[in-house]
Amino acid sequence: MREARTTCPYCGVGCGVVASVEKSEIVDVQGDPQHPANFGRLCVKGSALHETLGHGGRLTRPIVDGVESDWDTALDAVASRLRAVRDALGPEALAAYLSGQLLTEDYYVANKLFKGFLGTPHLDTNSRLCMASAVAAHKRAFGADAVPCCYEDLEEAELVVLVGSNLAWNHPVLYQRLKVAKQRNPLLRVVVIDPRVTDTCELADLYLGLKPGSDARLFTGLLAWMAARNKLDRVYLEAHTQGFEEALAAAQEQDAGVEAIAADCDLDAERLETFFYWFASHLHVVTLFSQGVNQSTSGTDKGNAIINCHLAGGKIGLPGAGPFSITGQPNAMGGREVGGLANQLAAHMDYDTPGARDRVTRFWATERLVPCLPEGPGHKAVALFEAIERGEVQALWIMATNPAVSLPRTDRVRAALAKCPLVIVSDCMANADLLAYADIVLPASSWSEKDGTVTNSERRISRQRGILPPPGEARHDWWALCEVAKRLGFGEAFGYTHPSEIFDEHARLSGFENGEGPDEWRRLFDISGLAGLDRAAYDALEPIQWPVNAAAPRGTARLFIDGRFATPDGLARMVAVRSRPPAQALDAARPLRLNTGRVRDQWHTMTRTARSPRLMNHRAEPFIEIAPEDAAALGVEEQGLACLQGAGGRYVGRVRVSRGQRRGEVFVPMHWNGYFSGSALSGALIDAHVDPVSGQPESKHGAVALDPLPVE
Ligand code: SF4
Repeated sequence: MREARTTCPYCGVGCGVVASVEKSEIVDVQGDPQHPANFGRLCVKGSALHETLGHGGRLTRPIVDGVESDWDTALDAVASRLRAVRDALGPEALAAYLSGQLLTEDYYVANKLFKGFLGTPHLDTNSRLCMASAVAAHKRAFGADAVPCCYEDLEEAELVVLVGSNLAWNHPVLYQRLKVAKQRNPLLRVVVIDPRVTDTCELADLYLGLKPGSDARLFTGLLAWMAARNKLDRVYLEAHTQGFEEALAAAQEQDAGVEAIAADCDLDAERLETFFYWFASHLHVVTLFSQGVNQSTSGTDKGNAIINCHLAGGKIGLPGAGPFSITGQPNAMGGREVGGLANQLAAHMDYDTPGARDRVTRFWATERLVPCLPEGPGHKAVALFEAIERGEVQALWIMATNPAVSLPRTDRVRAALAKCPLVIVSDCMANADLLAYADIVLPASSWSEKDGTVTNSERRISRQRGILPPPGEARHDWWALCEVAKRLGFGEAFGYTHPSEIFDEHARLSGFENGEGPDEWRRLFDISGLAGLDRAAYDALEPIQWPVNAAAPRGTARLFIDGRFATPDGLARMVAVRSRPPAQALDAARPLRLNTGRVRDQWHTMTRTARSPRLMNHRAEPFIEIAPEDAAALGVEEQGLACLQGAGGRYVGRVRVSRGQRRGEVFVPMHWNGYFSGSALSGALIDAHVDPVSGQPESKHGAVALDPLPVE
């Protein structure tokens, strides 16, 4: 028996795991007591990790045109077909669609190949569905996508506000930490703002079950309320921000009276004012927000409305204070670090970061190769599949994600995939929904085999270690990308033999060798303190929060503690936010508001978690949660079957009548895929409206009709 330390591959908490290995099997997993994200805790999903392993359902051989093949043939086919599309139609006909499940090293190599050497800007990720609005809000407010807080802040706060976050189910170890903090400090208050009453409400001193989509109204109302009651931190505003008057004027365009705000949010005015008072009267406030805020056509504005209130009260850059966006996936943050979004170039730089193209070009150039970086941003996830639908993109490499289930309008996504002349799929699981569209399938390594790093929601880089060899001919994604790069003539720039070499290059680029780069950028994103690690040091790397550099060799717990932001003048920007309703309008044909989300014991499209009977026991079937009054009016009963009709299809599920559900609204889980239930694709119900700034789809605000299904 041996023990190996690694990181959980599920949510953005990024818990450390100790795996017990006997012969060639992981027989047990425990929380790593030394990991600062979880200090030994694990949730149900994490503690069942070893139950989801094994060779069943794994892809173990490459497949070319439906026939099992070998790696050489498959890699030759990938390279020659990508080249043919590029030669015929130009680089912009190529695209990659990645995943927050990939390791940072995989992401780095994919970005370098597609943007740097194939020259296409169209590389995006399923993290677009998760935190893109928070990224955009950070950039608008702070001048850079940087999360100010750390998990300890939840324990140091006087008030924790959870907005659009079912922490108890979706980030359970953070919920456990908050629960313990509350037990230790009876003065710590928790406010939950969510249309649904969830298990998270058990911790709530105050629950605000607001109308879906009214978050921006609530937080612009809070800003106006603070101004009216002289609860602003004028000194902080003056010294560290710009744009306050415009932000306040926008907030005051709607009636700023508590009664009016409460009416617009469908809340009790007294409870709302209690929240306003608590927020304004405490300095140490953390507002933790997640998908309920982000997955909206005004998600970026909602994020900025929250950040505005923190800036206006000086509640940022202090222990126990700040707006805190929590990512859904284990490495959504790592992808942001290495250019894994279509609007990024590389290493946190955008296309319009001064001098960025030149610097990345010089950094990636070799003796004989010069990168051909695109001029500007590429298509974001939803737009990417629309470009495929139009025939503009004709070659797509999908890695570790299933857009045929998870994107809005899965009917259109599937049609686009069917039409795309070249679809390459790299995955560890034989994922029937997607493989149906694949011309070439590459078997990838999975958790316990992958070797590299991930970064969690508090900017903490942790090692995910390769504990077992990949089964059959499964290989690491970075390796497959490098092999294709070599076949395309770019071998000189992709000669990595180990993930530590990729990490080293990423760390050096983040630090802008030779002291190049804007000061603020260097201050925030520099991990050059981790450059130069040899294999042994890389393997032994302990969890550490960026930035990590000469000034902060042990990492950085909190950002903006000196009140300087990454804008040219160092001032944070307050954004004028005007509340607007969801784009998916309700009407007589589709009168119910649809909310989608996770359940406690499943992960994404269930390819792994459904392998554990223990996890399946929690919610064994697709379901539709509905308020008792609506159930009665629509003639459906607990445990009966019902059908939802949405923008692009139907969803059949078992009815769960819940008093936690608001009237006029229904909730469905997002997990069930075509293999488990082809008639319960939540993506089919959602129309493809996106936030105009972030490109994040409006997955929390579908419009559906519900019909009872007769039981035969
Ligand atoms: Fe894994 Fe998240 Fe659970 Fe931690 S909280 S064990 S990272 S799923």
